[in-house]
Amino acid sequence: MKPETVALLSTHYYDRNAGALAPPIYLSTTFERDADGSFKHGYLYARNANPNRDSLERSLTALEGGFASVAYASGQAATMNLFLALAPGDHVLIPTDAYYGTPALLEELMHPWGLTYTRVDMTDLAAVQAAMHDNTRVVWVETPSNPLLKIVDIQALAEIAHAGNAVCVCDNTWATPILQRPLDLGCDVVMHATTKYFGGHSDVLGGALVFKEDSKLYQRIRRLQSVGGAVPSPFECWLVLRGIKTLAARVRMQSETAGKVAEFLSQHPHVEAVHYPGLPTDSGHELAKKQMTGYGAMLSVQIRGGADDAIRVAAKLQIFTRATSLGGVESLIEHRASVEGPNSATPPNLLRMSIGLEHADDLIFDLKRALE
Ligand SMILES: *Cc1c(COP(=O)(O)O)cnc(C)c1O
Repeated sequence: MKPETVALLSTHYYDRNAGALAPPIYLSTTFERDADGSFKHGYLYARNANPNRDSLERSLTALEGGFASVAYASGQAATMNLFLALAPGDHVLIPTDAYYGTPALLEELMHPWGLTYTRVDMTDLAAVQAAMHDNTRVVWVETPSNPLLKIVDIQALAEIAHAGNAVCVCDNTWATPILQRPLDLGCDVVMHATTKYFGGHSDVLGGALVFKEDSKLYQRIRRLQSVGGAVPSPFECWLVLRGIKTLAARVRMQSETAGKVAEFLSQHPHVEAVHYPGLPTDSGHELAKKQMTGYGAMLSVQIRGGADDAIRVAAKLQIFTRATSLGGVESLIEHRASVEGPNSATPPNLLRMSIGLEHADDLIFDLKRALE
């Protein structure tokens, strides 16, 4: 079945009590035990499992084509649990332009705990191969990347990881399973910030790890979720599950609009560069065409001049909202370098955009006016 259908079927709820179409929210933290000591519905305590989280995990598994999913209270909590499942002394490879929070987590929390890591340009497969050590356990892939929208070869990176006895994990937040399915391309685990496109309305934080198959790693992480306690609430699971019902429609329309915006910007004299894999001139275009079914709704633009010029353009926009984050129905724009702080490697004239559901013509008009 196509992802549109999977999104609907995997979120469908069969209500034996009232025939309701929308699922109830099970707020209960604890579940009744039978006289014989068993738990006939399978639930004991809500940190271990609860019906809303189970529904969400089943839907995520179906969408990514995996074996099982583990849902968290944020994308960062999902990433943290993946690293906590390794052992002190292990080594991790991450891309040079990974989502800012991933290296921050490794540096500030996991490095003192005993993990080492190397940042490597994953568009260069020989460099990835050379960065593999005997103790490398994870090759962390993110494509399209943040904020430069670089595309890396998921299949080739998974092969390098496996040859070195490491697992390949893909942060699939920006592409979503509507446009890209890393497990089909050889990855072992998909990570998501469900905060973004799954939730889709900028009103819920969440994260998830989706596993290709049953494994020691999956069993360990299932245990860490419950013992570590970084679980999403039933209401948060309910909101993300509701978001999934419109995921495919939103992502496809937002991507189509992003393509039009990127095309407009690439022709503008005040624009130095546009980073969007859908542009035929983009360095990642051919690879994206091969491993994605659309190019996504994120793009970055470098304005001619410096940071001040970029900030001035963002200030003049009336339809875009100046805010961080992405994946919601409203278009957002941000000056990425100032969000990332003094150690940021992001070009100072770069603005990152998350395209929403407004009409492409209106967004282009807004940009045209701001760039004058
Ligand atoms: C937002 C984001 C995260 C982190 O998710 P949170 O829910 O904010 O913790 C991780 N990776 C990518 C690519 C993201 O965009």
